[in-house]
Amino acid sequence: MRLRNKVALITGGNSGIGLATARVFIDEGARVVITGRNPETLAAAEKALGAGVLALKVDVTDAAATEKAFAEAAGKVGKFDIVFANAGIGGATPLGETSPEQFNQIISTNLTAVFFTVQAALPHLHDSASVILNGSVHAVLGAPGWTAYAATKAAVRAMTRNMASELAPRGIRVNQVTPGGTKTPIWSPMAQTEDAMSALEARIGGMSPLGRMSEADEIAKAALYLASDDSANVTGIEITVDGGMTSAPSGAKIFRAA
Ligand code: NDP
Repeated sequence: MRLRNKVALITGGNSGIGLATARVFIDEGARVVITGRNPETLAAAEKALGAGVLALKVDVTDAAATEKAFAEAAGKVGKFDIVFANAGIGGATPLGETSPEQFNQIISTNLTAVFFTVQAALPHLHDSASVILNGSVHAVLGAPGWTAYAATKAAVRAMTRNMASELAPRGIRVNQVTPGGTKTPIWSPMAQTEDAMSALEARIGGMSPLGRMSEADEIAKAALYLASDDSANVTGIEITVDGGMTSAPSGAKIFRAA
């Protein structure tokens, strides 16, 4: 049990990577607080995760509500040892077709809210806590049509390093998981049928040397390392789980000679 007696807060814990991480953390002995907006998936996650979980409905883009919810959670379960700022949204913002509202929605959710999640959690963090931000390979990928999303994830990468230096005096570590394409509901708007999802999996998976998308559980296990005392002297880093897509792209099947 690598997280015995620890309390973890996971934003966006009712779906995808956040939900998989909640499960892994609970299996490793943690008490987990999950947040999200959708009451149905929050209730379903609470039921599926069982006794070790507290689910709270809060929109991460509402900084005041976030502060209130985190104070309430800490009052119920105690100070946090782990914060996983995971909540995020996808969405294309092609040049020539994007409104300021669409652009700002991605910025406010994936960038601004990550800062205010950490700020709201801070008074309730144990010294030597572990903060984990959720980045993306889009920070360095250069994919057409995804400028706002990529900019937020490049900003998260910068925030990981900034916050790591800023919170070090309290012994608080700040690290990042950096998923490549991972099979979660975030892709549903872009692949609404099973066939479309299979085609998307083949296309995204085919961009990496290991030839497949990641499973949510594989990101959760990287988060587990950063959350646990196994990484006690590790701060300011990112663990990339992308099958080699960003570090060794020439190994992808499409680039191989045979
Ligand atoms: P999901 O869509 O499965 O989960 C997203 C989670 O974020 C949901 O729990 C959702 O809750 C929550 N969320 C979104 N907006 C808000 C908000 N305003 N307030 C509160 N909660 C919110 O996607 P993933 O699990 O894939 O995404 C998790 C993180 O991983 C994101 O930051 C994403 O950018 C990142 N990531 C994902 C990759 C992938 O390929 N899947 C690749 C790289 C990074 P609710 O539904 O209740 O709003």
